[in-house]
Amino acid sequence: MMRVPFVAGNWKMNTTVTEAEELVYDMLDRLDRVEGVEKVLCPPFVALVSINMMLRGSSIKLGAQNMHFETLGAYTGEISPLMLGELCEFVILGHSERRWYFGETDEMINKKVKVALSHGLKPIFCVGERLEENEAGKTREVIDRQVMAALDDVSPTHDLVIAYEPVWAIGTGRAASGEQAAVTIKFIRSILAKLWNRDIAQDLRILYGGSVTSNNIAEFISQPEIDGALVGGASLKAEDFLGIVTQTAEIKYPHLPSPFKGEE
Ligand code: PEP
Repeated sequence: MMRVPFVAGNWKMNTTVTEAEELVYDMLDRLDRVEGVEKVLCPPFVALVSINMMLRGSSIKLGAQNMHFETLGAYTGEISPLMLGELCEFVILGHSERRWYFGETDEMINKKVKVALSHGLKPIFCVGERLEENEAGKTREVIDRQVMAALDDVSPTHDLVIAYEPVWAIGTGRAASGEQAAVTIKFIRSILAKLWNRDIAQDLRILYGGSVTSNNIAEFISQPEIDGALVGGASLKAEDFLGIVTQTAEIKYPHLPSPFKGEE
């Protein structure tokens, strides 16, 4: 099975609803025309309703940035999979900012992954080591624990995208090298092969995330192990995000003619 390249923009806690609509308006037509790449925008919760309407009829998909693991009830301020199910196809789970600023544990992330899948939402599940863990040579140990815990008691599924996001590379301007990222992504496939099976380990899309821009995307995308990117800061700039998506199409499909690549 060919892995369709995947690029998602995580807008984090940025943009008012008006600004979110303007950003979508700026890139909608051009992004829509890039074929062969699954394109996902993850704006703040409050913009999901209007962005959902703007994206109707386009090839661009919508994702949320987080979700509670209960479906409804007395959880003031939380957003449930039932609510997201009407609006989104994807949900980012286990992002390092959720883990480290909001105390999300592996156990909570496991509950979220299960409930998302049972409500037809596809998780973009994030893993990654912190700087001190990287420096102590513990990257594999950390990633293994995060993957095994989040997928505990989860049946093999194609409705999952994994993002390898070293915490030290997120928002720092200090991206991993393409080679470093590919080695860890290959390791993630080996965990999936043991936990589930070899076929699914080869089929699932695994992205790199951490200071990706239109200037360095080529380094990651040219690695066969890396199927795309989860993009934070650069996804807030229409030209930068378009550049990332367009280069992804160009590099993953070098023989296809230019309309395919979304050129004017
Ligand atoms: C992210 O938040 O998932 C991310 C990768 O951020 P940035 O691209 O800004 O490093």
